[in-house]
Amino acid sequence: MSTTEAQADQRTEIDKAQFAEGLRGTVGASSDASAARDPVNQPMIRHWCDAMEDHNPVYTDSEAAAGSLHGGIVAPPAMLNAWGMWGLGAPTRASAPRAQSSPLAALDEAGFTSVVATNSEHTYGRYLRLGDVISGTQTLEDVSDEKQTALGVGHFVTTRTRYTDQDDNEVGSLLFRILKYRPGTGRQPAGGDGDSERPPRPRPGINRDTAFFWEGVDKGELRIQRCTGCGRLGHPPYARCPDCGSYDFDYAVSVGRGTVYSFVQPRYPLVPSFEYPYIVGLVELEEGTRLVTNIVDVSPGSVRVGMPVEVDFRQVDPELTLPLFRPMRPDRRETTLRFDEVDVGTHLPPCPIPITTTLIVAGAIASRDYQDVHHDRDLAIERGSPDIVMNILTTSGLCGRYLSDWAGPEAMFANLSIRLGVPNYPGETMRMTGKVTDATPAEGGGGIVRVSFGGSNRLGNHVTGTADLMLPAGS
Ligand code: ZN
Repeated sequence: MSTTEAQADQRTEIDKAQFAEGLRGTVGASSDASAARDPVNQPMIRHWCDAMEDHNPVYTDSEAAAGSLHGGIVAPPAMLNAWGMWGLGAPTRASAPRAQSSPLAALDEAGFTSVVATNSEHTYGRYLRLGDVISGTQTLEDVSDEKQTALGVGHFVTTRTRYTDQDDNEVGSLLFRILKYRPGTGRQPAGGDGDSERPPRPRPGINRDTAFFWEGVDKGELRIQRCTGCGRLGHPPYARCPDCGSYDFDYAVSVGRGTVYSFVQPRYPLVPSFEYPYIVGLVELEEGTRLVTNIVDVSPGSVRVGMPVEVDFRQVDPELTLPLFRPMRPDRRETTLRFDEVDVGTHLPPCPIPITTTLIVAGAIASRDYQDVHHDRDLAIERGSPDIVMNILTTSGLCGRYLSDWAGPEAMFANLSIRLGVPNYPGETMRMTGKVTDATPAEGGGGIVRVSFGGSNRLGNHVTGTADLMLPAGS
């Protein structure tokens, strides 16, 4: 805390404790049940699945869903609290029937005006179906003492919302934690990440034989030299074809996909122009040629020989773009994993998710979250953020997609718990990884696997979490 802040904050520890105690005055109080504005419906599910790129057919394909264990369309479970969101034109906090209203108003008044969601723990009673009318009853569970966090000084406010359907049966619950903090009281990050200090990477040596390759890179094409005499593809480019002796070449444009043929993680000597750790990979393209490149958007420990990768033309400094490779989004399983196919310790394939403005905005709107920091860059900057940030429901949706793509269309989520760390800003790539940490057989076949997962970007861990998935018995 700076001297001026210390002077401005005249409250004693006793004042702070009393304030926190007052905030906890309504702990245990519940709101009246608040009904969702619309029944569970296909258009909202479709918007959600489009935004998350979640292609599980049980959410959107009525024929496939009818033939599944669900017997019809179900909503992605991670949408649980999207149904009760107010959307644009939300009532003001004063009139909203929320158990957290009273401490939130008191926190606003005391200057803790900024808010960020930190935890979301879903428990699912059953999957929601089209036409379900969901109501939420919210209970204030806790308000923390004042804490110094990276974002600022504030209080964590925890609520639990119990969701019921039209027959008053519980369909799920949500434990939700937010941080209400005083803007401008965060710890400043320690002076940049060194990007500005780093000398530029070495320039490629471009000559008459290789110019076509670099011209292609500038156009977003990965070009492979082709002999016009015999059609041989070769990389790196030759002056004379080793097969037929021709000196005449044109080029083919690669589809940009391949697999890791080999890789190494250089550690020494340190080259100041590289960001460590980094991976030098030999990628075998689908066309059969290989090229030396960097494997990016993946932690070194997750790289495997044979891993499918795709090209990403990345501007590494203002004057240089390089064809680097990142793991391909893993294929979505068409048939659901059986319980006996999964072992504790199994790693899920890594999956980079490019974070774009479109993804953040589409996810926010699909989850009816119109908080300005999720769609309005100017207002986000005004609030001290460098750009818009992903909302917690989108993060939940992407985690749900990652797990469901891995486990298959009929894997059933029993719960989904996530904890947020650093924000997801546009331009970042969230690198998802996961591991099976537990497997419990169920009576009557099949069982439940627990997956621990995480998604990190260049700033650190954006999300960590766990989910329990019910998998069917072997056939
Ligand atoms: Zn040839």
